[in-house]
Amino acid sequence: MLRFAPSPTGDMHIGNLRVAILNYIIAKQAGEEFLIRIEDTDNARNIEGKDKEILGILNLFGLFWDRLVYQSDNFKQHNIIANELIKKGKAFYCYCTKDFLSQKKDEAIKNGIAFRYDDSWAEICKDINPNPTIRLKGAEDSIIFIDEIKGECKFNKNEIDSFVIIRDDLTPTYNFACSADDMLYDISYIIRGEDHTSNTPKQILVRQYIGYLKDIKYAHLPIILNKDGKKMSKRECESSVKWLLEQGYLPNAILNYLLSMGNKPKNEIFTLKEAILWFDMKNLSKSPVKFDIDQLRYINREHLKRLSPKDMAFLLESNDLSIGALGKIYLEEASTLNEIRDKIDLIFKPKSLDKENAESQAQMQYLRDVILELVKQNDECLGDFNAFKTRLSEICKLNGKALFYPLRFLLTGSHKGPLLNELYPYLRFYLKEILRS
Ligand code: GLU
Repeated sequence: MLRFAPSPTGDMHIGNLRVAILNYIIAKQAGEEFLIRIEDTDNARNIEGKDKEILGILNLFGLFWDRLVYQSDNFKQHNIIANELIKKGKAFYCYCTKDFLSQKKDEAIKNGIAFRYDDSWAEICKDINPNPTIRLKGAEDSIIFIDEIKGECKFNKNEIDSFVIIRDDLTPTYNFACSADDMLYDISYIIRGEDHTSNTPKQILVRQYIGYLKDIKYAHLPIILNKDGKKMSKRECESSVKWLLEQGYLPNAILNYLLSMGNKPKNEIFTLKEAILWFDMKNLSKSPVKFDIDQLRYINREHLKRLSPKDMAFLLESNDLSIGALGKIYLEEASTLNEIRDKIDLIFKPKSLDKENAESQAQMQYLRDVILELVKQNDECLGDFNAFKTRLSEICKLNGKALFYPLRFLLTGSHKGPLLNELYPYLRFYLKEILRS
């Protein structure tokens, strides 16, 4: 089984989504189940409702799960495993108070050495501390694992001292709960962000001490950098999946882009279904990848181009095919749904002529009246752009730019944009609304 294990502690970051996508793809390729495990072990940091929001996003991206679990439902199991480890002599109660440990940490800093827990401290505070934690015994040997992206990763035994697995309130710590659940759900392959690499030896150690024999594969994905080459922080809006969706990037396009980063995709533009056919972890680059919003914009536009007018209309919250068709035409100069919406809003908003000079204001007002009169009479020229243009030209005695300049503004609310003869077949049904002042 593969798993995606989000913590409900903040907005879904594009790095998390990338992890979810890759786990989903590998699960599908291997014919294994895909588990969502909400890692809600850190009560203080959990945010109400974030779990549902994350699940909503996964659904939107088509990353459907076979099983959903909340880590907190397994606390009992985690305690059972911890007690098993105590029985095996691989874990022990630690009565150290917080004050005692912070004093030891201060001493280490003063002496310029790295803080390491010393097992001989375990019972020093036994008389004053009735609520012990449980610690796993530090590594007895170095721990090596092969990462599918990074290659061999080795951790010396002195890098893994005895660490807390059960807190004094009986809740499990992240590394322990994670390792326990990976065993409980028979996880075969763990794909996650590079920031977890140093957790891996601790999680392996738990399994070794329990005597769990299954070999779990690992792939730690290189971090995502911003355009300045710095680690993309959660505070940068572009890193939030919710923000990208709100801006009008399509789930398909975001997925396409995230899967293309540091990868050798078969084609530039693809769907999740297609990616399942060719994705290969071996093609992923070992180096950090840079997030490039312009590339995402390009990919988004390509996906928008592939939509039918009906689907485009739906995404623009209209059930009128003409609106969908207009949206598609505006892809000449827009790359997100929001940008298309802005263009279409301009068409329908009353046009302010204030910025035009007196002559052009007069021309526009006159032209507007002429068109509205034609509409009132349901003139047959309205059915075809060439006939419409010719008729206006005859009535207003205007030609070429002198006609097109005011006409374009009246019909689109802008002085530039796609060709009027392309737009007109869809605008013509709305002339009265478009020309209202
Ligand atoms: N809950 C962890 C996170 O959100 C993921 C842990 C894991 O995949 O093992 O970063």
